[in-house]
Amino acid sequence: MTIPLNFISRYAIPLVVATVFLGDVNIPQQINIFDKTQRLSDEILSKARGEGAGPPESFDYIIVGGGAAGAILVNKLSASGANRVLLLEAGGDPNPIFDVPNAQRYFWESEINWDYTTVKQERACGRLDGYCDWPRGKALGGSTAVNGLLYNRCKPKDYDAWANFTGDQSWSWANIKETFNSIEDYHGFYEETNGTNHGLNGEMYVGTLDYLPGIEVFEEALKEKGIPTGDLNGGEEFTSGFTKIDHNIKDGLRWGTYQAFLQPILDRPNLVIYRYAYAIRVETVSDDNGTHRAVGVTYERHGEIRTALAQKEVIISGGVVESPKILMLSGIGPKEDLDKLNITTIADLPVGKYLQEHPGVDIVGSSGGFFLNTTFGRDLSSPEAILQFIQNGTGPRSGFAFYGGGYAPQIMRGYLSSSQNEDKEWPDVHIYIRERYSPPPNETEEIYFAVDAIRPKSFGSIKLASSDHKDKPIIDPNFFGDLDDIEIMVDVIETMMDVFMNSTTYKKYGIQQLDLYEPCQAQEFLSRDYYRCMVQERATPYFHPTSTCRMGPNSTVAVLDSKLRVFGVNNLRVIDASSMPFIPSGNTNMPSMLIGARGAEIILAEQ
Ligand SMILES: Cc1cc2nc3c(=O)[nH]c(=O)nc-3n(C[C@H](O)[C@H](O)[C@H](O)COP(=O)(O)OP(=O)(O)OC[C@H]3O[C@@H](n4cnc5c(N)ncnc54)[C@H](O)[C@@H]3O)c2cc1C
Repeated sequence: MTIPLNFISRYAIPLVVATVFLGDVNIPQQINIFDKTQRLSDEILSKARGEGAGPPESFDYIIVGGGAAGAILVNKLSASGANRVLLLEAGGDPNPIFDVPNAQRYFWESEINWDYTTVKQERACGRLDGYCDWPRGKALGGSTAVNGLLYNRCKPKDYDAWANFTGDQSWSWANIKETFNSIEDYHGFYEETNGTNHGLNGEMYVGTLDYLPGIEVFEEALKEKGIPTGDLNGGEEFTSGFTKIDHNIKDGLRWGTYQAFLQPILDRPNLVIYRYAYAIRVETVSDDNGTHRAVGVTYERHGEIRTALAQKEVIISGGVVESPKILMLSGIGPKEDLDKLNITTIADLPVGKYLQEHPGVDIVGSSGGFFLNTTFGRDLSSPEAILQFIQNGTGPRSGFAFYGGGYAPQIMRGYLSSSQNEDKEWPDVHIYIRERYSPPPNETEEIYFAVDAIRPKSFGSIKLASSDHKDKPIIDPNFFGDLDDIEIMVDVIETMMDVFMNSTTYKKYGIQQLDLYEPCQAQEFLSRDYYRCMVQERATPYFHPTSTCRMGPNSTVAVLDSKLRVFGVNNLRVIDASSMPFIPSGNTNMPSMLIGARGAEIILAEQ
């Protein structure tokens, strides 16, 4: 087989370039030492000068974390050239292997996974003895360097709920829709029918996947059951039903926030990026009136601890686990908890208290989903499939790996309501449909589905394990702390079972019932109790945690005001998924980017 030229330009050259330039980009910066009125302590100044006693490093903005939200902030705040911006990122460049979406499965074991684990859950992650994996991306691009790239703007009512909770209508759907559109470059499935509902000139590419085995059959079954299909990202027009899945994939390759917002601006002279720089805490000083003010960030890099100074603001965008950790190590958090670790509290706030996550469950039998008497799928390992991907970025290899490392492309996703949901315009369960083909000798086609509770009633928490920044925090999602979350999922499992088991469409294709799930064999097969058991046993995190530093109306129930400022500490904001008042009803990548883009708008408007 000859190596196509496309292969060299699409993969080989980027790989070589990425390998050669994996080091830091060191851009000379203007040094601007704080004057005496800033009251920097000798300790802060000496750490800022470093062991070599060089001049302190000083910037206008320091941003901690270059992930979904952080990368956008870096881009927008450095755009005019007027602000000197430092990005401290704990990881390095994204690994180019994961640019190939199908390689995402290898991320779990890689160095760019923060690799957290939860405390033991009473009712989830049964297969892991209750200790759920909690992956997060550690690289420029953050979790967008490793995520599933599924594009979901969630529901208009999510943002209206944020606006109502904060009392700030600038967060309502009507007011944030333009911000969403401003960062999107939409080429998805619904472009022609719904062009006005998506942005066309932003940095974030939204595209389609062409390999959707068996989608026509599923659509036919939905029609038969009266479940509508349309663009679930379009806004108020279509809020419940199923949709084709758009992805942040361009020409078959990952389009995360590194590709969209950081890579194009690496040579900005007013931007400094320190890779492998682990932010430990925010440095603060007290002003005459007793208020606290952020003046810099202490970080560890290549074994050295230094402090960088921020003349305008410190912005924490470390994500839902690390942002609360940094705040708490800085004395910003629940006093009761900080006292126990001998950390002096400067702001007593409910940091880490409102963790939310979507529990999700794959409905499969012991060996597979529903077996179909047909073969819609194609062999992933065939030379044609590989060549098609290399040449065009399309075909079976262009999708994602799900189902225990096996390959099961997602063909549609949907929103449906449980019986408990009173507002049918704001569904409470998300569903993913996946089709799996197994090559000969067994040659089988399976279809299965997964559901996740997208507006869970349970809240969890993140706490410090110790005052040592090297220790991982304690993550407790408290899955199914409110048992309603199980019932909500069971309702929609029953609806979906009806689509698959009772539609003439699937009967035509000889659908066979799924196998008994052995840990639940004490329950009557396919009864509500059986599904309840399955949900509790199999549920895992769906990688959408939020709200550990949430914004809200006051410092009793929130950490940030609606301008994303930390209550009681000036010049300090938290801008990432942790800032969300409540978890939005779906995948959190676009909402996190929205927070980043909106945060930049707020800051620039204040200048
Ligand atoms: C495996 C996986 C699959 C997912 N799939 C999807 C999907 O298909 N669709 C979707 O919409 N969403 C998905 N998500 C969720 C989405 O990626 C996240 O919601 C989003 O990236 C969160 O953005 P963020 O800015 O809050 O944090 P992140 O994107 O995680 O960025 C945080 C950044 O801060 C850095 N950082 C943290 N602590 C420090 C520190 N102390 N010092 C310096 N740097 C630090 C991190 O290294 C990271 O780069 C997925 C997430 C995961 C993990």
